[in-house]
Amino acid sequence: MSSPVPDDDAVGTVIHSARKLDADGEVDEFWLATEGDRIVETGHGETWRRLAEGREIVDAAGRRLTPGFIDLHGHGGGGYSFDNGPDEIMGALATHRAHGTTRSVISLVTNPLAQLRESLGYIADLTELDPLVLGAHLEGPFLAEGRKGAHNPEFLRDPDLEMIKELIGAARGSLRQITMAPERPNAIEAIEVLVEAGVIVAVGHTEADYDQTVRAFHAGARILTHTFNAMNGIHHRMPGPIVAAFEHPEITLELVLDGIHVHPDVAHLAFTSAPHRVALITDAMAAAGYADGDYRLGTLNVTVTDGKAVLSGTSSIAGSTLTQDTALRIAVERAHVSPTDAVEALTATPARALGLGHELGMLKPGYAADAVLLGHEWAVEGVWAAGRRII
Ligand SMILES: [Zn+2]
Repeated sequence: MSSPVPDDDAVGTVIHSARKLDADGEVDEFWLATEGDRIVETGHGETWRRLAEGREIVDAAGRRLTPGFIDLHGHGGGGYSFDNGPDEIMGALATHRAHGTTRSVISLVTNPLAQLRESLGYIADLTELDPLVLGAHLEGPFLAEGRKGAHNPEFLRDPDLEMIKELIGAARGSLRQITMAPERPNAIEAIEVLVEAGVIVAVGHTEADYDQTVRAFHAGARILTHTFNAMNGIHHRMPGPIVAAFEHPEITLELVLDGIHVHPDVAHLAFTSAPHRVALITDAMAAAGYADGDYRLGTLNVTVTDGKAVLSGTSSIAGSTLTQDTALRIAVERAHVSPTDAVEALTATPARALGLGHELGMLKPGYAADAVLLGHEWAVEGVWAAGRRII
């Protein structure tokens, strides 16, 4: 294998002799060629040699090659938190990139309006500067107090159209996603305003029943935030939001598959009940890819023990310490999801949920040159993002 230091004079890269694994399935003896930030050609066997000139050549030696992972929902990693400014965001993203995540939506926990505006402003700057940053996700403040999880209840509130307009304005086109509880007063009208502004609305941290969830979907909501967590479960007489999401083919179901948030057998149920619609997210906080200890998540204290994050002094789960390579391994080995379906849940499905399914999440010509080389037991051995080798 060639050195991980990119050759700046190269017009691109050829990765050959790979076992390609994306949402279309597995292919042996696969190769791809990149130019700039795109994949320009793919094929199999030895035909890559005519594209070798001027390109860096990487022999994958039969290892698996997947598209770069896309994380719809995370709060930090590597000891850094997305709520603490641009330097910490870049530090956290560097940690996740080493685990295969090439594109990330930056999630913000519930905070007062002034702080959310400030955070949205610097995420807007980063989104303009760095194509690997896909924009912001507001997790709150319009969440249910009874399902608040690790969000400070002092700052939770009903949707307010003036505040929503201010948040949309502060984000300067980079507000990708917002999680809200659709049973709160004014929520349906708020969903319509947000959808009209191009924001993807997610239902989560909610006490909504089946009917309230369906109304949110009809108003334009398209994601269920960390399915099974911070919402009503499936009851045989009260189907709730999860069954509503299973039944609606336009809905993407986020899932935190760390072995803690959801039992692997229940994760399996989600994959079979909503095929091609499960997106494996991290919901990671600062301890992901880092160490046990005491942290802050927004304004709250979090203690991490053996990789499990809880609000200090409670048993309430406060984000994860997951990275997406681990989610892939748990999906295949413990939830018994096929490698193709597991990789789809980290790549093509989140890309589609963001409306980016035509350019992210597949190893095909015209798609972004984002790829992950995986060794034994799904260990990340190489990462390319927008055509550059970063690991
Ligand atoms: Zn979250």
